[in-house]
Amino acid sequence: MATTLEVTSIPAQAEELFDRVKGLYPEALDVVKRAVEFAAEAHGDQVRASDEPYVIHPIEVAIILLDLQLDQDAITAAVLHDVIEDTEVTYEVLRREFGESVATLVEGVTKLKRVKLKSKVDRVALDEEQAENLRKMFLAMVNDVRVVIIKLADRLHNMRTLSYLPEEKQKRVSRETLDVFAPLANRLGIWQIKWQLEDLAFRYLQPDQYHAIAQLLAEQRAKRAEYLERAISLVRERLDQEGIQYRITGRPKHLYSIYRKMQEKDRDFEQIYDLHGIRIIVQYERECYHALGVIHSLWRPISGEFDDYIALPKDNGYQSLHTAVIALEGKPLEVQIRTEEMHQIAEYGVAAHWRYKEGLGEDEDLVDRVRLFRQAQDLPEEADTALQFADSLKSDLFAERVYVFTPKGDIVDLPKGSTPVDFAYLIHSEIGHRCRGAKIDGRLFSLDYQLQTGDQVEILTAKKGGPSRDWLNPHLNYVATQRARQKIRRWFRRQEREQNITLGREILDREMRRLGFEQESYAEIAALFNYDKVDDFMAALGYGDISASQIANKIDAATAKSEQLKLKAIPERTISDIRIKGVGDLYHRLAPCCNPVPGDGIIGYITRGKGVTVHRVDCPNVVNMQDRERLVSVSWGEAHAEYPVQIEIEGINRRGMLRDIAGEIADLGLNMSSAHVDTHQDNTATIRLTVGVEGVSELSTLMSRLQSIRDILDVRRQPSG
Ligand code: MN
Repeated sequence: MATTLEVTSIPAQAEELFDRVKGLYPEALDVVKRAVEFAAEAHGDQVRASDEPYVIHPIEVAIILLDLQLDQDAITAAVLHDVIEDTEVTYEVLRREFGESVATLVEGVTKLKRVKLKSKVDRVALDEEQAENLRKMFLAMVNDVRVVIIKLADRLHNMRTLSYLPEEKQKRVSRETLDVFAPLANRLGIWQIKWQLEDLAFRYLQPDQYHAIAQLLAEQRAKRAEYLERAISLVRERLDQEGIQYRITGRPKHLYSIYRKMQEKDRDFEQIYDLHGIRIIVQYERECYHALGVIHSLWRPISGEFDDYIALPKDNGYQSLHTAVIALEGKPLEVQIRTEEMHQIAEYGVAAHWRYKEGLGEDEDLVDRVRLFRQAQDLPEEADTALQFADSLKSDLFAERVYVFTPKGDIVDLPKGSTPVDFAYLIHSEIGHRCRGAKIDGRLFSLDYQLQTGDQVEILTAKKGGPSRDWLNPHLNYVATQRARQKIRRWFRRQEREQNITLGREILDREMRRLGFEQESYAEIAALFNYDKVDDFMAALGYGDISASQIANKIDAATAKSEQLKLKAIPERTISDIRIKGVGDLYHRLAPCCNPVPGDGIIGYITRGKGVTVHRVDCPNVVNMQDRERLVSVSWGEAHAEYPVQIEIEGINRRGMLRDIAGEIADLGLNMSSAHVDTHQDNTATIRLTVGVEGVSELSTLMSRLQSIRDILDVRRQPSG
């Protein structure tokens, strides 16, 4: 930066800025003056395409923000908005000179310049999805909505001075303005900026149509003004009679919106332009409806033209009553009716917030509207006052997504935390499988790099090969999207098909043996699972898509009643309507202290020599019981059909083995009616049990539970009979 003592010349536009600031924020005049001097010095002798000193541009941008009545920090930041990008000044310097708030705003605007639309998006018109993604990308990159508003003002001034640029550039910038910036202004509800951007872009993109419409407008201006004057004086007369406080304005017609209407409704200029319009602005919401009644009694309403956007606001928070009537000379007249505050929101959208910063507490109406606006924008629910609303706008609007460019300039959106691997799989599975490295904005990055909005991503691929196992390891953060994860899994699944088929056969054979079934044909079992091909079924089993217990269930369902199972039902064994889980028909009695009845929660207590006493679970004797290991779970008998099965268990002969087995059986709520233990020389034991089960799936569950007990070597079902 220059260090001369010479006073940098301050352009005349600065005087207008200072006057306006003095009127709106007198206390900010000093800092704004300091910002202008700072910016003028920083930009030095840089000039715009118009040959004017560069600093005129940021000053004009600040004046646009004053029209919107944005706050002092935003005005100051607007004056400084290009210094980080275009001069030697850093964030740190700005923070020291102007404070954190201003410096952060300037940094935010600078960051938006990473979206280099011109070089990256090389097409005439964006399709709607791409344009929408670009707009989202913009919002995702800022954490303060004022940054976007500064950017919009910046764009507006650039559009106003576009005539100094070559024609080809004019068209490109205008296209981008129409596709991205005007809709962005619309989304934020800033109508004042939206229509200016549209009309300017229209002028450069379709100069012939623009000038034709402009000329027609000019020719009819006088006639039109005269007609409106007559209509308005009639309206005034009636509103005055009703004692309503109001003001009436004509409705400026915007060239691009006339053009759009002509296109959409396929009408010519006369038909569109013939629609005269007025706007009535009142104080209170109820007066809107009152005024509507006045208009409808003055002239006949046109059916189908009435809209109540007060009761049903538009997505961007817009509220108003719209109607059309047959007015003087039988010509249609459009009428909009709204309160002053609705008008502010309609013209300034999000920016209206700063205009209402004072005295917000009492204004419940505005708080409500702000809430509606917030809902429409998917902003957090918890903010309840307009001031909190302002804070919520500072938090990331689209924090959950990142928007990145393909090498061709297409925009791809991904969940936050996504990596080049996610990106590669989104582009194409093959690119995903063969992805080996990534270039971000031309520099090499590792595959676990977390993509940032605005990155341009290029994937480096191997000629052949597949994904890495590591990519599936959740601790290594190689993938964040379900899509990539699925595709990687599918790849491994395919690779391992042969292995899985073999494994599947082993699992099936083992399960059949375990359950004591005769060998069935593989094809029949596969058919139970709706597989035509045995190999497909085996692979699914080997991969784990089908579990061993599902086999038991299916066979159970298909053949439970057939002879093959050779299970014979035995009479239900409930004793005094109580079933004692795990211990079979032990002698038991109901405790006299609490007298449980069916339906009570109950628990058993193993007495010395007297079998089991059944108490209510809330019985004080149970609650205070010292010997808790003697408690067993019992239940009231239910009318289950039970089948006794013999199970043979081989295990190492250790103490407590039988107790562990009985415990598992009790946990499952099954009845064990006999147990026999043979010990062998080699310190192993064979245990034969008879257990009542309801069916094969229960049996299968029981057997795998038994199999998992420590020191058990084998569990099989004994052939019955
Ligand atoms: Mn700029």
